Parts: sequence; structure tokens; C-alpha cells
Amino acid sequence: MPRFEYAPAPESRAIVDIQPSYGLFIGGEFVDPADGGVMKSVNPASEEVLAEVVEAGPQDVDRAVRTARAAYDGVWGRMPGRDRAKYLFRIARIIAERSRELAVLESLENGKPIRESRDADLPLVAAHFFYYAGWADKLGHAGFGTDPRPLGVAGQVIPWNFPLLMLAWKVAPALACGNTVVLKPAETTPLSALRFAEICQQADLPPGVVNIVTGAGATGAAVVDHPDVDKVAFTGSTEVGKQIARSVAGTRKRVTLELGGKAANIVFDDAAIDQAVEGIVNGIFFNQGHVCCAGSRLLVQESVYDQLLASLKRRMATLRVGDPLDKNTDIGAINSGAQLERIRTLSEIGQQEGAQPWSPPCELPDRGFWFAPTIFTGVTQAHRIAREEIFGPVLSVLTFRTPDEAVAKANNTPYGLSAGIWSEKGSRILSTADKLRAGVVWANTFNKFDPSSPFGGYKESGYGREGGRHGLEAYLA
Ligand code: NAD
Repeated sequence: MPRFEYAPAPESRAIVDIQPSYGLFIGGEFVDPADGGVMKSVNPASEEVLAEVVEAGPQDVDRAVRTARAAYDGVWGRMPGRDRAKYLFRIARIIAERSRELAVLESLENGKPIRESRDADLPLVAAHFFYYAGWADKLGHAGFGTDPRPLGVAGQVIPWNFPLLMLAWKVAPALACGNTVVLKPAETTPLSALRFAEICQQADLPPGVVNIVTGAGATGAAVVDHPDVDKVAFTGSTEVGKQIARSVAGTRKRVTLELGGKAANIVFDDAAIDQAVEGIVNGIFFNQGHVCCAGSRLLVQESVYDQLLASLKRRMATLRVGDPLDKNTDIGAINSGAQLERIRTLSEIGQQEGAQPWSPPCELPDRGFWFAPTIFTGVTQAHRIAREEIFGPVLSVLTFRTPDEAVAKANNTPYGLSAGIWSEKGSRILSTADKLRAGVVWANTFNKFDPSSPFGGYKESGYGREGGRHGLEAYLA
């Protein structure tokens, strides 16, 4: 029987109108910078410049924080929860209505496949706002005292891997609790945050409740270090998280840090192998592996190693790498040249240290930033590719013989964000999960998210929880 080939199925980008340049969003309107510079947003799949945005300076950040303070004192901090909820519900509905436009913009700027931005990111973004809208008038029943109070101004800094979803994780609980916000999106993905600013205008959110300052690390540091910020919420690398922990130490600021990970995905010999293979693929190749909780270390019980590896390679050969806007694409572009360089460097180190790489045959586009899905076998716990976060579509495969060895290897990492267990025995799943030092443990699935479920890490993966009732705590006094 002849093999069917996929025809191109591109999503139209006509729905997204991108302006040549954007100002900062302060006080409910787009304003010119006082001391900011200019930086470019680039489509990583084509290297085309999408727009110019401001690289905000200290004066700009100061203006944003002062505006957020005025909005907190004057309006938002004293508004009854039931009224704040109405704004949050309105924002959630507008996001749902404009989700196609937002999904296309997210894929254009981030490089993630439209299938994922349309079916995972955007539904989760809307769900997060709906979920926290529901809490705004029930904070006295959340288990944090009968009259919990907001903290004031939240300074929030987010990464580029899930630009809108990370914004939702930060902004929705902060606003639900009555705080105002100064948010800095990542330097490579500012456009969806600026589109969110337009949504705040469309929802008639009082000016100054949400302020968005674009820029790079220095702008983020200015937000974090501003003396009038009451709460710092950071998602990003462990290295920067440590710097932030140092810089806020000794101040009265509250802090939550959501940092990196090196999750173990453990497959026992009684697991349903095909199901596990789907979970492994989803665990490491979802969003090009740019996922803090990615299952980047596969631990396989020795007796099923050959069978599982053959099955995994067969499945990987069906993955389609290419245009993020093609609806059949499984793996899109790497977000930036710098990130591609990091993935290449660590992969080369993996080879030099003696691990064996394998990738399915796949043609990569000429322009843009691309990396073929890759697995490394023969990996030991001492290898850097087993210890460091690669943050790309690269899986390190290790083996184990006994459940105790699996747990010891899984916990042998400075991180502790997530883990996965594949077994048909409930008792084995529960006893293993109990011993894993990870904030989230998935069983017979991976990368499942829900706004009602808390998320966060142990050890160098950070502290504090986002999502669920627990996520309110970080924004309440
Ligand atoms: P990054 O730490 O380089 O940057 C994150 C953000 O911090 C960006 O907006 C950046 O501009 C800003 N920043 C950089 N230096 C700063 C400084 N000194 N002070 C304040 N802000 C500063 O991380 P990245 O490369 O953008 O993102 C990838 C990392 O994020 C990975 O390590 C990943 O695991 C982590 N991450 C964690 C979670 C989680 O929930 N735990 C979620 C997503 C991503």
C-alpha cells in the first residue's frame, strides 16, 4: 500500500496584525520610554524581524512601579473581590475569544507548533484566568485567615518558553488577591504580553493595575530591585533565581522562585510500553523540550530496555520537524540562536564524554534555528547531559535494575521540579512517588497541567507554589 504524505497545512498569519514598533504599557496606555533603548523581536523559524520593542531603563521601571502603587492605593487594593472577579472573568472571556490570534502570535514569536499553542497554551491561559476569577471573592475561605489582605505591588519576571501561560500564572492570582502588577516578559518573546496589554484595555481594567515593561536582564533586575515592590515572582533559570534570592535577601519583599529542572521519567518493566513511549515523547519533545519540567532523563528498567528503545526510535521517526504554523508540525523552531548554541554545546559535550547520540532522519529548514529530536544512550549519572538542564529536544537515557536504584538515580540531581512513573501497579506508583524529591509526580502520563493543581519545586528548582489554592498564598498577607 502506498504511504500517504502530508500536504502542507499552514495556519494563516493574517489574523495577527503586528505593528512595526511598540511602547511600554504603563497606566493603561502605550507610552514612549524615558530612558529605554530599542530591541527587536525575531521569528525564530525564519529570522525575520517581527517588531521593535523598548528595552526599558530604570526610570521607565520606576514610572511603572509608581503607577502600579497609585492603582493599588487608589482602586484595586480596596475594590471588593466580587468586582475584581468581574474584570478577571472578562479578561478570560476575551482571551478565549481571541485565542486563535494569540496562538498564531505565540507560534510566530516563540517557534512552538501551532498545534500546541492552539490546543495547550491558549486553553490553559484562559482556564487560569477563569480559575482565579472564581477565587477573588472567596479569599476568606481559602485557608489563609478570615480576612487575608493583598501585598501591594508585585514585580514579576517571566521566561520565553510559555510566554502567555507564564504571564497567566503570574498575573491571574496576583490580581485576584488585589495586588497590582509590573510584569517583564522575556527579551525574545515580548509580543504576546503586549497583546495582553491590549486585552486589559479592551476589558476596561482600571489603568495601572497591569503594567508591562519590556527589556532584557537589566530591566528584570530593575523590577526586582525596585524598593517599592512588595512581592517578587520569578520564573526562569536557577542561575538568575540565585542572583534574585541574593538581591532581595534582607529586604521585606516576599519572593517565589520557579526555576529549572532535570526530571526523571521512570519506566518499570510492567509498564504499558507503547503508552510509556507516547509519554516519553510528550515529556521531552513537547515545546521543543523548552519545558522546565521536561522528562529529560529517561530511566528504563534493564529488562525492557531493548524493547522500549526500539519502540521509541520507531515513534521518533514519525515526528515532523518544521514550520511552526503548519498544523501537522510536531516540533517547531528553537527559540533563539543563543539557546540553539547552548543545546549544541551540551550535545557535543555528551558525545565527548562517551554517550551515543541518535536522531531520526529529518530535513531541517535552511533558515531559522533548528535542532533534530535526539536521544543519547550510554549515559551515566556523572555525564553533564544527565546533570544539566539542556532545555532542548534532547533526551538522556539511563537504566536501572531495582526500584530502589530507580529512586536513587531519580533523586541524584540538584533539581526537584517534576518526575514521571510508568507502571501498571498502583502500589508501586505510590511507594515510588513517596520517595521522589520532586514537586510534581505524574503517573502513567506526563506534562499534564490544570489551573487547580499547584506546581513548584524542591531544591534548586526553587520555592513557592503556583496554581491552585496554594498559588494564592504567595499574594496574600
Ligand atoms: P533566564 O533566567 O535567563 O531569564 C528569565 C527571565 O529573567 C527573562 O525575562 C530575563 O530577561 C530575566 N532576567 C535575566 N537576568 C535577570 C536578572 N539578573 N534579574 C532579573 N531578571 C533577569 O531564563 P530563560 O532562559 O528565559 O528561561 C529558561 C529557564 O526558565 C529554564 O531554566 C527553565 O527551566 C526555567 N523555567 C522554569 C519554570 C518553572 O515553573 N519552574 C517554568 C518555565 C521556565
